Amino acid sequence: MNRKKQKVLGYDVDIISFDDTIRFLIERIKNKQGTHVVTINPEIIEQAQKNKELDEIIRKAELVVADGIGIQLALKLKGINQERIPGVDLAIELINHCNSLRYSIAMIGAKEDVIRLAVNNLEERYSDLDICYFRNGYFTLPIEEKIIDDLSQAEPDVILVALGSPKQDFFIKKCREKVPNAIYIGVGGSFDVWAGIVERAPEFFRIMGIEWLYRTYKQPKRLKRIYKTLPLFAFKAIIEAIQYRLFLHQRGKNDKSN
Ligand code: UDP
Repeated sequence: MNRKKQKVLGYDVDIISFDDTIRFLIERIKNKQGTHVVTINPEIIEQAQKNKELDEIIRKAELVVADGIGIQLALKLKGINQERIPGVDLAIELINHCNSLRYSIAMIGAKEDVIRLAVNNLEERYSDLDICYFRNGYFTLPIEEKIIDDLSQAEPDVILVALGSPKQDFFIKKCREKVPNAIYIGVGGSFDVWAGIVERAPEFFRIMGIEWLYRTYKQPKRLKRIYKTLPLFAFKAIIEAIQYRLFLHQRGKNDKSN
């Protein structure tokens, strides 16, 4: 597949449709090509700019997709149309394919009752689904080693990690050293949604790309995160887009004069 990327605040984001993302991942599972999928958003970028380890993890990830409207708008400022690829939607579509293609999955994260409910609900909905391993997301360092050992025994095709960012990204980095051939997706609060504990926003909010607004209304503590991140993100995205458009303009002029 011909891969196109574009920078958002210095991070490469894949310019790819939802369907091509799924096709790409299925191909990677077939070929046992380990892959880390980052579903990037302004908050992750803000954290990565302050944290070298997270910065490196994102730069090394095989696939970085635009999770929400913030990244989509930043790309739009550069004249690039990119559909939103929310982690929760990407993961469920991949699960759907794992069910029909008999690929195994592992799930790490969320509270004990939540992960159990999520696993039960998925198994009910996808009758052939092979969830070969699951574990709640509250563990100490020695238990983390044990989880990684268990995963290297179980050899899942897909490992979904729901610890929130950046915890899930650090876990994935560590786990990949011992379990290199799996597809990893950090899926944040998705298990809470699949367990039925957290409601997804109504369709209107999803279609408009303002699911975050609904989530903030439901969980007002998120407001602080958004308020801290968004203005600076928007400012930097505008500057980057201006630089990009000036670069394109200059290149066009040079091409004409040659
Ligand atoms: N979580 C976890 N272990 C931790 C911290 C968080 O398993 O040490 C889980 C938490 O229970 C929730 C998810 O990680 O299910 C984080 O959800 P959140 O909505 O904060 O993530 P976001 O989607 O905002 O990254």
